[in-house]
Amino acid sequence: MNEKIRINRKLLEIKPSGIRKFFDLIIGREDIISLGVGEPDFPTPWRIREEMIYSLEKGITSYTSNNGLEELREEISRYYSKFGFTPDPSNIVVTSGVSEGFDISLRALINPEDVVLVPEPTYVSYSPLSVLCGARVITISTSPDFRLTYEHIIENSRLIEPKVLILNYPANPTGVSYDRKELEEIADAVIEKDMIVISDEIYSELSYNFSHKSIAGLNGMEDRTVVLNGFSKSFAMTGLRVGYVIAPDDIVDAILKIHQYSMLCAPVTSQIGAIEALRNGEDELEEMKTEYLRRRNFFVRKIKDYLEIKEPEGAFYAFPSIKETGLSSEEFAEKLLLEKNVAVVPGNAFGESGEGFIRCAYAVSMDKLRLAVDNIIEFVNSL
Ligand code: PLP
Repeated sequence: MNEKIRINRKLLEIKPSGIRKFFDLIIGREDIISLGVGEPDFPTPWRIREEMIYSLEKGITSYTSNNGLEELREEISRYYSKFGFTPDPSNIVVTSGVSEGFDISLRALINPEDVVLVPEPTYVSYSPLSVLCGARVITISTSPDFRLTYEHIIENSRLIEPKVLILNYPANPTGVSYDRKELEEIADAVIEKDMIVISDEIYSELSYNFSHKSIAGLNGMEDRTVVLNGFSKSFAMTGLRVGYVIAPDDIVDAILKIHQYSMLCAPVTSQIGAIEALRNGEDELEEMKTEYLRRRNFFVRKIKDYLEIKEPEGAFYAFPSIKETGLSSEEFAEKLLLEKNVAVVPGNAFGESGEGFIRCAYAVSMDKLRLAVDNIIEFVNSL
């Protein structure tokens, strides 16, 4: 057995998540204010929990059809029209979160050595899961303003023929989002290079400066876009593990094949909660969004005199530059944690082009955010 490698070789190329590594340090520490984890601080709205409890009382605990409850897929189809296109329910597969949706979409699309373009800074899962599928990952640095453009895509596909572009907006970790004109330019490049987009729109409800539009709704893009979305962030349902994929006929068939052999179906209780979220959850969603916006405005207003920061357009992350402090992202985050008990994520956890930045999630109560901001300012002043 010794000479044989017991573990999938591809895993040797993958580093553990920079976020997890950092947060193992603070597990169980009550004295730390964490702006680290990208998770809503609200409980799932009561009306959603109540529907789920009621369904359990009724004994609804079985598998659902592989692609998800029909009622839920019909709701998703209606709901998505607010983002600019109305998919047929047959083009939707309900998944165990966007995480599963992303994994099975890639597996449905990628043959060994296919090239995947990943704009950086990037959500931590995209590159590792692409590598695991056997893809060649080409990262695109979007420095200095972290906006992906037509030129970025064309420039990075001059010598290769990429098959898939990963798009995420509003973005984790930068908070950048794209308006219609910017999306049209990205779409032009995708069409010119005959690519497929996996568009992770999980923060679509948390778009503060303009209303979110799906790239799938732009001319000709529906046939080359796999949309990922879910309930974790917008409806504070992270642990319930429910999301969905919307894809063209051939791709959705392939995705469903993998889903039915691997996951069978998303948890039925969560699917029932998701139906309630889409039918009656609008008010709670607006309340949470208003609160995130208040926190964003507070954070940016306070921090901008001490660290360079661009106003995040969406999600619940701010991504200030710490370059002027002379510290690396990791040094800054470690010292801030040790000296001021505030946890943030070093920008390099999101790829090389995140170096010189820190990610601060403002999904914490206003009281904690105030304290965290005061401590960050004190820390920067002490340097
Ligand atoms: N996509 C992005 C951009 C995220 O930030 C996250 C979670 O932080 C996920 C996907 C995971 O979503 P889910 O909980 O639906 O698996």
